Amino acid sequence: MFMGHYGPAVWDTQRGKGHVLVPLWVGFLAVQFMDIIFAFFAMAGLEGGVRMVNDAPLFTIPYSHSLVTSLGWALLGGLLFKLFRPTAGAKGFWVVSGLVFSHWVLDLLVHRPDLPLWPGSSVELGLGFWNWPVLAFALEMGLLAAAFIYWLKVTTGPKASVIGLWALFIFMGALQFLVILAPGLQVKNGTFDPNVGSTGVALGVSMLVIYALLAGSIAWIEKYRAPKL
Ligand SMILES: [Zn+2]
Repeated sequence: MFMGHYGPAVWDTQRGKGHVLVPLWVGFLAVQFMDIIFAFFAMAGLEGGVRMVNDAPLFTIPYSHSLVTSLGWALLGGLLFKLFRPTAGAKGFWVVSGLVFSHWVLDLLVHRPDLPLWPGSSVELGLGFWNWPVLAFALEMGLLAAAFIYWLKVTTGPKASVIGLWALFIFMGALQFLVILAPGLQVKNGTFDPNVGSTGVALGVSMLVIYALLAGSIAWIEKYRAPKL
């Protein structure tokens, strides 16, 4: 999953009632924490190759995306949050851990079977919803739209912040189209070339730039919206 990951990020924006326990921009980083880790592993050459199995591209992501290591990344994400915001307490820890782990659950839905149980495990999971590229696009953007509508409901701010949020939504839709939908249609038509597209350092850097840009954009919009009591 790509942009759909941001759906759960709004989970805690209203749980602090009147104050924000887990800011949305932190949620934006938490839900992509596993892909951020992947970006570093890709730059180090440890992960990131695309292998074709039965004409479908599978990712090599044993450390960033196995079930066992994902649980570890979830705990690490919660600990990091606690370190930077000790006042958020146990609840903050569990919310951020849950957001980090939501990445694995949503990836399980869309990935073709390339999520191992543990690094090196021959059991690889993935329900393959990406095999229906247009439906998967609707699912991911639907998750994101639902989250943004919810967030607008539980926060208040000037109209410009609403326009800014939907502009960001359109930008995210364009990214989803370029990175997931277009290659997904190529896989379906049998014209997908696994050798096209960046790898290694270029792939890692471009992912980090995208995730930082999106977290920065939502942080900027979030400055102008306060939680409703
Ligand atoms: Zn992922």
